[in-house]
Amino acid sequence: MSAAYLEKLNERQRSAVEHGVGTGVHTGGPLLVIAGAGSGKTNTLAHRVAHLIVNGADPRRILLMTFSRRAAAEMGRRVERICAQVLGGKAGTLSDALAWAGTFHGIGARLLREHASEIGVDPDFTIHDREDSADLINIVRHELGLSKTESRFPTKATCLAIYSRAVNSERPLDEVLRDNFPWCSAWEKQLRELFGAYVEAKQAQNVLDYDDLLLYWAQMMGDGALAEEVGGRYDHVLVDEYQDTNRLQASILLALKPNGRGLTVVGDDAQSIYSFRAATVRNILDFPATFTPAAEIITLDRNYRSTQPILAAANGVIELARERFTKNLWTERESAERPRLVTVRDEADQANYVVEQVLQNRECGMLLKQQAVLFRTSHHSGPLEVELTRRNIPFVKFGGLKFLDSAHVKDVLAALRFAQNPRDRVAGFRLMQLLPGVGPQTAGRVLDAIAAEPEPLTALSEIPAPPRSGDHWTSFVDMLHILRSGRSGWPSEISTARSWYEPHLERIHEDAEMRKADLLQLEQIATGYPSRERFLTELTLDPPDATSDQAGAPLLDEDYLILSTIHSAKGQEWKSVFVLNCVDGCIPSDLGVGSTAEVEEERRLLYVAMTRAKDSLNLITPQRFFTHGQNAQGDRHVYASRSRFIPATLLQFFECSAWPVAAPAAADRRDAQQLRVDVRARMRGMWR
Ligand code: ATP
Ligand code: MG
Repeated sequence: MSAAYLEKLNERQRSAVEHGVGTGVHTGGPLLVIAGAGSGKTNTLAHRVAHLIVNGADPRRILLMTFSRRAAAEMGRRVERICAQVLGGKAGTLSDALAWAGTFHGIGARLLREHASEIGVDPDFTIHDREDSADLINIVRHELGLSKTESRFPTKATCLAIYSRAVNSERPLDEVLRDNFPWCSAWEKQLRELFGAYVEAKQAQNVLDYDDLLLYWAQMMGDGALAEEVGGRYDHVLVDEYQDTNRLQASILLALKPNGRGLTVVGDDAQSIYSFRAATVRNILDFPATFTPAAEIITLDRNYRSTQPILAAANGVIELARERFTKNLWTERESAERPRLVTVRDEADQANYVVEQVLQNRECGMLLKQQAVLFRTSHHSGPLEVELTRRNIPFVKFGGLKFLDSAHVKDVLAALRFAQNPRDRVAGFRLMQLLPGVGPQTAGRVLDAIAAEPEPLTALSEIPAPPRSGDHWTSFVDMLHILRSGRSGWPSEISTARSWYEPHLERIHEDAEMRKADLLQLEQIATGYPSRERFLTELTLDPPDATSDQAGAPLLDEDYLILSTIHSAKGQEWKSVFVLNCVDGCIPSDLGVGSTAEVEEERRLLYVAMTRAKDSLNLITPQRFFTHGQNAQGDRHVYASRSRFIPATLLQFFECSAWPVAAPAAADRRDAQQLRVDVRARMRGMWR
C-alpha cells in the first residue's frame, strides 16, 4: 500500500513525485514538469521533496530554489506537514534541516560567503540593493564627469537596468542596447566606460550587487575543484518557477548538475513575466534538448485552483498568445458565477467598489486574507490604500515600497554595513552626511583617504574631526569601533547603532517619534536572525513587506487584505481576486507596447493575475485613470478603454458608474480630504 500523501495526487503528479526514487541513490535523471497555472506544480515539488526525505534522502543535501524567501518558507512548511504524516515526531527535525531552500540570490550569497577567499573575495563583503547600486553608479558617473558634460545621459536607474540586463542575459552591451534600450545606443562608448569603472569601484569597495551574487556563483562553478565541491554537496536540486530564470541561472544549474541527474525543474511558459530582468522562457523550452536523451518531461493539464468560468476566461486570454507550449487547462470545479468585468467611473470609484465587495465577502464569512487586490504597478494602489486607511481596514502590500526603503531604517542599516565593511562607499556617504558640518566633498575625501589603508577603521580614528562636526564625529567613530569589535553582541548591535542615530533622527525628521518606533521594530525583526551578516544579507535580498501601519513585520495574527503587484503575486492563490485598472495603457502598459514580445509579456501578466483566483474574480476598468508622467504630457488623466486582452464574451458585465456609496456629509468630506493629504504626506515622508 502506498503512503496516504501519494494517494491524493493524480497519476502524472505522482509520477513526477516518484521519479527516480527507489533507484538506490534516489537521484533519477533530469525531470521537467511543464504545466499551466494551478495544476499543482509547486504542490508536486513539495511532495517530491517530502517523498525523497521519507525515502531516506538527507535533507541537508537538497537544494530547493524558489522565487522568493516567502515561497521557500511556505514550501518548507508543506514538506514538514507531509513528512509529519509519515514520520511523526522525527519529521520536524528532518525538514528543519532543509537548510538549502531559498532564492537563487540568497543561496548564492551564502555559498559566496563560505567560499569567498577561494575566489579572491574578502568574506566581509556587503551587498547592495538596487537603490544602493544605482547610487554607486551615480557616484562613478559623477567621477567620470559623464552627467555634467552629457545632459541627456541615461538616468542612474536606466544605467543600472542596462548593466543588469547585459550581465544576466550574458549578452554583449551593443546587442542589449540595440534590442532593449535603443534610445541609449548613442551612449554605448560612455556606458562601456561607466560599467568598467563601476565594476572596479565595487571591487575596490568590497561590495557585491544582486547580479554579482549570480556572477560570482557562476564563476565559482567554472573552477573545476570548487565546482565539484559545491555541486557535490547536493544530491538533489529542485527549482520552482523555472520560466522566470535567466541564462546565468541556467548555466549555474548546468554546472551544478552537468548530466542533469537529481535535477528537477517546474514551470509554465505561459506565466513568463520577468523578461525585463533578462529571464528567458528559452530555459524551460530548451531543457529537453540540453539534457537529451535523459530528460523526462511531464505535463499536467488539470487545474485544481479555479472554477470553470474563471479558468475559461483565463484560457481565453492566453489562447491568443503567439507562442505557447503548455495547453489549455480543465477543471472539475463547476460554478454558475462568471468573472465580472466591472466598469467604474474613475480610480476613486474603483477603490470604493473594491472596499464594498471586500467587506461584503467578509460578511459572508470570507477572511480578508483570502482576498487579494492585484495591480500592474505599485503606485496604482494609492487611492485604494487611502480608502482602506480611512475605513480602518488592515492590509499588507507585497511588491511595493518596503519597510527597509525608509530613510531612517536605511541609515541604521548603513551603520551596520559600514562597520562590517568600511570600504562600502555608499554606506559611508550616507552615514557621514548625517553629521553636521560634513558634506559630500568632505565625506568623499575621508572615504578616499581610508580606502587604501589595510585597516580603514583605524585610519578613520586618526583623521582629525572635520571642522564644525564637533563631538558628533567622535561618537560616530566610537560607535563604528564598538560595532566592529562585536562587543555589543548580536542583536544588541542594533540598539548600539540606534542610540547613536537617534539624536540625528530628531534633528533631521519632524516625525521622529514614529520613526523611532520603526527602529524598535527593526530590533525586533533582528532577533529572528542568527548574526549581523545573515540579517544584512537576507534583508537586503528579500525585505519584509509594508503593512497598513507601516510596521516592518506583517500583522501575523490578525486578518488583513492582501495588496500586491501582479509580479509579486506569482505562485499564490486567493478565494477572491480583484484586478485593478484592466485598461489599455495599463495592461498592456503604455511602456510595454513597443514590440510584439513586450505586448505578449503583458498578456501573460494578465493571465497570471486572473489565474490567482479560486472562486471569484473581478476585473475592473475605470473609464478615466491617472498616468504618472509616462507620456510627454507628464501626469494626467486619460480616458481609457478595456484591455485588449479581455475576452468579453466570457465575462459578466457589471456597470457601476454611479456606485451607490452614500455621499459623505460635508464634515466627513473634509475629514476624508484631510486624511488623503495626511496619508500621502506620510507616505512621501516615510519613503525617500
Ligand atoms: P502556479 O502556476 O500558479 O504556480 P501551480 O501549478 O504551482 O500554480 P499549486 O499552487 O501547486 O499549482 O496548486 C494549486 C492548487 O491546487 C493548490 O491549492 C493545491 O493544493 C491544489 N492541488 C494541487 N494538486 C492537487 C490534487 N492532486 N488534488 C487536490 N488539490 C490539488
Ligand atoms: Mg506554483
